[in-house]
Amino acid sequence: MKCTHLLITFLFLISCNNSRPVDTTNVPQASSVPRVKNVILMVGDGMGIAQITAALYANGNRLALEKMQQVGLIKTHSADKLITDSAAGATAFSTGRKTFNGAIGLDKDSLPQETVLETCKKNGMSTGIVVTSSITHATPAAFYAHVLSRKLMDDIALNFVKNPVVDFFVGGGRKYFTQRQDNINLLDSLKAIGYKFYPLDSLHAVSTLKAGVFTAEEEPASLLRGRTPYLPDAVSTALNVLSKQDKGFFLLVEGSQIDWGGHAEDSDYIIEEILEFNRAVEEVLRFAEKDKHTLVVVTADHETGGYTITDGTLDGSSVKGEFVNNYHSAEMVPVFAFGPRAESFAGIYENTAIYDKLMAALGLQRSAL
Ligand code: MG
Ligand code: ZN
Repeated sequence: MKCTHLLITFLFLISCNNSRPVDTTNVPQASSVPRVKNVILMVGDGMGIAQITAALYANGNRLALEKMQQVGLIKTHSADKLITDSAAGATAFSTGRKTFNGAIGLDKDSLPQETVLETCKKNGMSTGIVVTSSITHATPAAFYAHVLSRKLMDDIALNFVKNPVVDFFVGGGRKYFTQRQDNINLLDSLKAIGYKFYPLDSLHAVSTLKAGVFTAEEEPASLLRGRTPYLPDAVSTALNVLSKQDKGFFLLVEGSQIDWGGHAEDSDYIIEEILEFNRAVEEVLRFAEKDKHTLVVVTADHETGGYTITDGTLDGSSVKGEFVNNYHSAEMVPVFAFGPRAESFAGIYENTAIYDKLMAALGLQRSAL
């Protein structure tokens, strides 16, 4: 009896011994998986499966996205709503925290959280943002600003200057830097700390960091209304400039107006914007295929419009869709990944896990703000 008791105690102690050897044959060792050098996060705002499919058929049944190696799905709800907005959606990607709709770079208790872009910058990497909205719009803002509401464009621009973590940018919104309530000219403030500004038609002349290209005073026009389709060229310039220094880079690219096509309940608007975004994906993949140390993730913050394809022709010359309404939906949206660590993006997970996976791939940890 006593003997059995001792034996059980002994077995219990063995099973509690943390130092016992563990079979690690199938566990990847931290040292054997090198950290990813560069990360390119591409967000198609409002780009659900149906939007992608419409653009695919309209483009002769092909998209650059088909080259991506892994596909996953994310749950997009915010901290306070089943239906997220782009501020909470982008804050989930940038900080790994669910927040309330409208919040930029804050957690649900309104506390500022360091963003992946800020952590990269702190660790000596270079950073870039290339968008087809204003640079102060919700999605890009969530990567460098910390404000209670996406509507506070003047404050977001002030954040950009006070916290100059973005080394290269292309986007609209010049007026939030120059025509402000406080009458401060933030372009002068940026020039004073070494930033240079270039017109859009001189994009190719940009060869150094601390450079910006404003593409509009407010929001850039849609492609249907005559915007120069600058996203692919802007991405190519960004890659050229950011890859010059050897500590790696973080680049955010947004096809901002795919969402606006959904709000406008306009299939052609959506398709045109996705096809421009697709050419930006091509540029990125060309770089990543050659570089081999770049992780590319393409996703969306949410779906817009409850869009679905209802008619069209097999040759893609006509693709027609319908919308449930003119706002976002709560559908899961796809995540596509390419490059080292791409496999970690397969599966179904929360939008905040995008941040976790990017940080793990980069081998970085958040610090307090
Ligand atoms: Mg956006
Ligand atoms: Zn929207």
